[in-house]
This record gives sequence, C-alpha cells and structure tokens, in this order.
Amino acid sequence: MAIINFKCKRCDEVFDFDVGTINFELVNERPQFEHEIECPNCGGLTLDEVELTELGQSQLTELWWIDGERKRAKK
Ligand SMILES: [Zn+2]
Repeated sequence: MAIINFKCKRCDEVFDFDVGTINFELVNERPQFEHEIECPNCGGLTLDEVELTELGQSQLTELWWIDGERKRAKK
C-alpha cells in the first residue's frame, strides 16, 4: 500500500489516498496505480482529474527511490 496526497481538480479537496501498488513504468508519462483514485466528495477520478500536491510529489519520489533500491538489490 502507498498513501499519496492528492488534490481533486473538481472540488479542490486535498486528501490522502492509498493507491496500492505503484508501477513506475510510465504510461502517458504517469506511473500506474493499482487502485482507482477516489475523492471523498466526488468519488472515482481519472488521473486527469487529480493533481499531486507538493506532499504527494515528495511521497511519490520517495516511493520511486525505494522501488529502485529494491530492484537494484535483486540483481
Ligand atoms: Zn472532488
């Protein structure tokens, strides 16, 4: 599980969401989240309808590093 901080572009709500497993192989320049993101007010959102907050970006960067470390450790 991976809790990331998002901001909903529809209602401007900022919320933490567990995106599950993250696949850092980018599709359309975005990492792939296991779970669909849900705003507490609007329900399910596409990735175009949310943005990462500054906190969310640093959380994602940290997870990306951990993911990279794990892959390097396997080799
Ligand atoms: Zn919303």
